[in-house]
Amino acid sequence: MGRARRGGAPVGARARFVLCSHAVRDLVTGGAGYVGSHMVCTLRRAGHEGVVLDDLSGGHRDAVPGDVPFVQADVADRPRVTATLRDHRIAAVLHFASRIQVGESVAAPRLYYKGNLAASIALLESALDAGVDRFVLSSTAAIYGAPKSVPIEEDHPAVPVNPYGETKLATERMLAAYSRAYGLRYAALRYFNAAGADPAEPHLGERHTPETHLVPLVLETALGARPHVTIFGDDYPTPDGTCLRDYVHVVDLCEAHLAALQYLGQGGESGAFNLGTGQGHSVNEVVEAARHVSGRPIPVVYGPRRDGDPPALVASCARAERVLHWKAKRSSLAQIVEDAWAFHARA
Ligand code: UDP
Repeated sequence: MGRARRGGAPVGARARFVLCSHAVRDLVTGGAGYVGSHMVCTLRRAGHEGVVLDDLSGGHRDAVPGDVPFVQADVADRPRVTATLRDHRIAAVLHFASRIQVGESVAAPRLYYKGNLAASIALLESALDAGVDRFVLSSTAAIYGAPKSVPIEEDHPAVPVNPYGETKLATERMLAAYSRAYGLRYAALRYFNAAGADPAEPHLGERHTPETHLVPLVLETALGARPHVTIFGDDYPTPDGTCLRDYVHVVDLCEAHLAALQYLGQGGESGAFNLGTGQGHSVNEVVEAARHVSGRPIPVVYGPRRDGDPPALVASCARAERVLHWKAKRSSLAQIVEDAWAFHARA
């Protein structure tokens, strides 16, 4: 659809149009956030032009290169978003903007129904209004709830146990219905545990306020910014009693988005894809890896379980490998922690 509009550009715009006709333009919502800001750089290296839309409620303006078009707006602001999609002749939307804290979603679900679900409904309205027909959603392993078995395949029952997972699942279902009815094509990318930083982009890393994720908390403890890490439960039915998670490098996640864009661009069928490694690591293992990489002591305190934490979340990534031809390459635990440490030690 974007091509048809380009073909109809006025004659006066022709010279400029020819100059940029090779670049694919993508809208990156949440492009000033952790994964989104990495994506902007990945797109650029792949010859795409990213346009960032972010309200800076959680993102950082300095995470977006100065020459990347930046629109400070809420994804639910339909007039601004529709105008942005039209003005920049956007071919695909990559929707990263989201609230992401499980605990917060339980305590304040309205923030999640409004910020994740209602905002996604508005964004899709804008996309349909502007004729954008490709959409990549940042989804999550949280849609599976407490899985019956691991590794988890995409057709495992989706029974989320918190509003964060519920709102992402509802968004996925909306995409499936819109795809059947309106011809929108989408990929819902179900991240397992995103971590790490891109060593080629030293200004980028994980910076959440407040920070609740394990890898940055452990590294901040190594730096002395926190007295200890509290490990949430050591009585799980896992080899060392702490939870198992599938940690996937942010660089690999971004490569998966590129693969999904290419797949959709070639007419690939819509669907959901797990993004992980197929390998679980315990909380204790993460702390140990961080001690090794940083060479610093990292005191731990064992505390009670955190509500809603399943014992093990490990992805089967066979579908992403088969369909998107994507496989995590930089996601050994040692590499993730090393790249994250390089960022934290610099920051
Ligand atoms: N975790 C922990 N202490 C912390 C933060 C996290 O023990 O201060 C554990 C958490 O229970 C989970 C794992 O680390 O088993 C990863 O948690 P995180 O919040 O990073 O990601 P999630 O798995 O919730 O997406």
